[in-house]
Amino acid sequence: MKPSRIFFLFSMATLIALLLTHFGKENRIVEKTSLSMGTIVQIKVPSDCCESQKKLEEKITHAFSEVRRVENVFSVYRENSEVSRINRLAYGQPIRISDEVFGLIETALEYSKRTDGAFDITVKPLVDLWASAKVSGMMPGEEEIKAALAKTGPQNVILDKAFKTISFKKRGMSIDLGAIAKGYATDRAIAMLKQEGITAAIVNSGGDMYCLGMRSKKEPWTIGIQHPRDREKTFLELKLADEAIDTSGDYEKFFVLNGKRYSHIIDPRTGYPVGDEVVSATVTAGDSVTADIYATALCVLGPKRLDIIKEAKGVEAMIVVNEDGVLKPYVSPGFKERYSVSKIDL
Ligand code: FAD
Ligand code: MG
Repeated sequence: MKPSRIFFLFSMATLIALLLTHFGKENRIVEKTSLSMGTIVQIKVPSDCCESQKKLEEKITHAFSEVRRVENVFSVYRENSEVSRINRLAYGQPIRISDEVFGLIETALEYSKRTDGAFDITVKPLVDLWASAKVSGMMPGEEEIKAALAKTGPQNVILDKAFKTISFKKRGMSIDLGAIAKGYATDRAIAMLKQEGITAAIVNSGGDMYCLGMRSKKEPWTIGIQHPRDREKTFLELKLADEAIDTSGDYEKFFVLNGKRYSHIIDPRTGYPVGDEVVSATVTAGDSVTADIYATALCVLGPKRLDIIKEAKGVEAMIVVNEDGVLKPYVSPGFKERYSVSKIDL
């Protein structure tokens, strides 16, 4: 064979190999997971975002360390977290807290007002009461529920902006940021990735997710929503770019007492866990904290109060309700059009 022919074949083979690597690389997603906040935190990044795989993994590691830092500050499962310190010391005397914790508690109290009290970080005495009922298998008595309810109420949390202090007006009060700090950890991890120059990624902290940029040059991210009663099935796919999507529901963390399923979400108005009418709420928003808050609040308020998201810019929602054993979706006015959803098959 003539040398020119060999050279031609060799250069063609090299070209094809380069093209395959480029396109193969462009479509390849690097996915890493880590255990944090009692759940799986997953980070996905298109492999073509960085100069090398090693660099990419370093950036993902920095984002996971930020999630762990947030956990160490906000976890009520960690004795030495700042929130656990607040719960030990804040009754009766103002205690100095960090700007970060002050800011998130301030946001939480503001959203208590915007959700007519449905979102309420002061429910921890009730969360603890129902957690012990789950262990004992005994329903708490009316009196116990009333006593725990008396130790709640966002109006009993006093924040002093000038001195950055917090105090509780009632003995036995405690706060639980479980419904906002996972969303916050997701937003913080995204901020870290952006700081490292990454322009496309997904961070998913146990269902509190943010989709940064696009999955590829032409394609947004496609997010499948898990069927609330069949974990193998996704019943809806949404295409998202630069948006958060958070789902709260009664199917990840629940307990059964006397044959009835109880959610881990508490109705702060009654002191009881949300009943089995609202099965899940999925919310999209510009950040994961906002989506996290409204997903919990809508599990409490149900479809009649979908209007609460109206005043929040760029928020859409879908609530799945159990109507005599049949699952029915209720969506906010803009949801179907925004995500070009024609039919929701549950
Ligand atoms: P969401 O609806 O977002 O939150 C529900 C949680 O918020 C409930 O579990 C309760 O804690 C609280 N809540 C209940 N009702 C209301 C209400 N009406 N308004 C406001 N809040 C309410 N889980 C573990 O098992 N082990 C851990 O070590 C652990 N560490 C964590 C550390 C951090 C920093 C965070 C944020 C969470 C941690 N968790 C841990 C998970 C936590 O216990 C909750 O299960 C989780 O945050 C629920 O998130 P969700 O999105 O599923 O539900
Ligand atoms: Mg949440």
